[in-house]
Amino acid sequence: MYLTENPEDRISIVQMNSELQRAQLELISAHCATHELRLRFSTENLARYGRRDVLRKSIETASALSDYYSSIEQQIPAEEAVSAPAAGLNENHTLQAIECVSSYLREQRERYLPLAAPLSKQHQARMCPYFSAALLYQVKVVERHGARIPNPPFYAEAKALGFVSLPDIPHMNSLTFLDVLVFNEGLMERSLFHALVHAVQSQVLGLERYTELFVRSFVNTRYHFLVPLEAHAFFLESKFALPVVEKFSVEDQVRLWAEQNRY
Ligand SMILES: [Zn+2]
Repeated sequence: MYLTENPEDRISIVQMNSELQRAQLELISAHCATHELRLRFSTENLARYGRRDVLRKSIETASALSDYYSSIEQQIPAEEAVSAPAAGLNENHTLQAIECVSSYLREQRERYLPLAAPLSKQHQARMCPYFSAALLYQVKVVERHGARIPNPPFYAEAKALGFVSLPDIPHMNSLTFLDVLVFNEGLMERSLFHALVHAVQSQVLGLERYTELFVRSFVNTRYHFLVPLEAHAFFLESKFALPVVEKFSVEDQVRLWAEQNRY
């Protein structure tokens, strides 16, 4: 599919979306870095002691980005715009959603486990500076090569409750069903790293706590990438993708965030 009829100017929609996705990942990294700043320093101190040139450049960039994306948002048809969950959403709905998601994760694990293979020696070696040998030995992977995982059946009900920005499962790079990692396409290093972070989170927190934190944050933020469990996975993934990266323990980072109640 192309954006124009002109053969000279055929930019594919697929290419556009892959560039959009790359920009989105960088924005999430920026969001996480700013979130760290917000947690550690007051805005008064930043305004008073922050380096003027760095501060001005950051403010300018953030404003320009906000203007740009708002101009796109204004052109999205009204019926697609993100709406707040229905006011009738209550604690019972949230508890039901937590139950639905944790059963879904457990069922999908059982479903994909018979099709899963151990992580190759090569991938184990690549991920060894960040994850425990025990975890790398335990996890199993499935590559779907385009046979995408469908959205779960409970999405229809969630949409009826007003959640229109649910993560689109068939278009996600990977899904972590506890210790079974499923890739909609082939396994790429960066998405393997991301999926492994979720495996660590679910082990450190336990499935029930992991699901509860995920669902409650999603109810509050309405965007899956703003859920701290997700934002942390993107943040660590972007650290892993840096050209020069030091060894670090994902498990230590996850335990730290859990102890500091940042999830
Ligand atoms: Zn994720």
